[in-house]
Amino acid sequence: MLGCVIHGRGDLRVEELPEPEPGPGQAVVAVRHGGVCGSDLHYWRHGGVGDFRLREPMVLGHEAVGTVVSLGAGATGPAPGTPVAVHPATPCGVCPECAQGRRNVCRDTRYLGSAARFPHVQGAFAARIAVPVEQLRPLPAGLGLRRAALAEPLSVALHAVRRAGDVAGRHVLVTGAGPIGCLVVAAARAAGAARITVTDLLPEALGYAAVAGADTLVRAGDPDDAGWPPEVDVAVEASGAAAGLNTCLRLVRRGGVVVQLGMLPPGSSPFAGNLLVSREIELRGAFRFDTEFDEALRLLAARGEFDGLISAVVPVREAGAAFALAADRARSCKVLLDFDG
Ligand SMILES: [Zn+2]
Ligand SMILES: [Zn+2]
Repeated sequence: MLGCVIHGRGDLRVEELPEPEPGPGQAVVAVRHGGVCGSDLHYWRHGGVGDFRLREPMVLGHEAVGTVVSLGAGATGPAPGTPVAVHPATPCGVCPECAQGRRNVCRDTRYLGSAARFPHVQGAFAARIAVPVEQLRPLPAGLGLRRAALAEPLSVALHAVRRAGDVAGRHVLVTGAGPIGCLVVAAARAAGAARITVTDLLPEALGYAAVAGADTLVRAGDPDDAGWPPEVDVAVEASGAAAGLNTCLRLVRRGGVVVQLGMLPPGSSPFAGNLLVSREIELRGAFRFDTEFDEALRLLAARGEFDGLISAVVPVREAGAAFALAADRARSCKVLLDFDG
């Protein structure tokens, strides 16, 4: 069976992997689709993401949907044949963060396809994977595997909006119209935002933000763009660039909230800290998600417009081309790998 393994910076290989056996409490899932995430692209292009560096070959991927094949000893979970989405996180359940209900920042979590710990946790870009049954979610009625592949990034977006507080009736700014930024738009809309403004350097990316429900699109590189708001109530930084963070700090109202969601470059980033002080802006981080995964599946089942954010489905044998496509934001939004056959 085939899988996508990153061996180092720029070295992505589609290779034969051993068939997984379900361990105690595990299920084997035949993966149908795996979404290519910004973090997968970072491992490919830079050999790491944020401050996590690759130290051994790793199967990429954490956005997986498929069908249950078999259950291991003592596993009670969805029956073979059930279509499922795979929650990529297994928090430890005993650390202080888990005890406080902040399982997404668990200090000892296992997250599919992540180099945050060593040995790395192998990912989901493989024809079949073995995962704990607790990580499986049967798809709600009416939700197909293809759209369900957005569950993981939509969960990230829902968590970021939750970190912003109550956005109902508010004007929300989103900097960065990649797949995550677009899903933040959808999440903010679902949470009742009154107005959503999105900035990006690329007009093609802004087009996807419009599909997701943005009201106003602004070219980030154009200070004269008529769409720039005088101020906003809440800002979510989804570009992962220091320039985006500074735009958020400049435009959020006094006492407003800025959520940093995009992973910034490794090390330190310059930002307009004095605005934070003099305007009493609250700067909050948002990392992964927890129970938002179930909310994401419900939202995906209810809304067809998400289909417009899936810009390509590429056979796994062409994973290199799929990654190049996903990295070219002028040509793509969310790119899915197809592991069928
Ligand atoms: Zn992702
Ligand atoms: Zn924990």
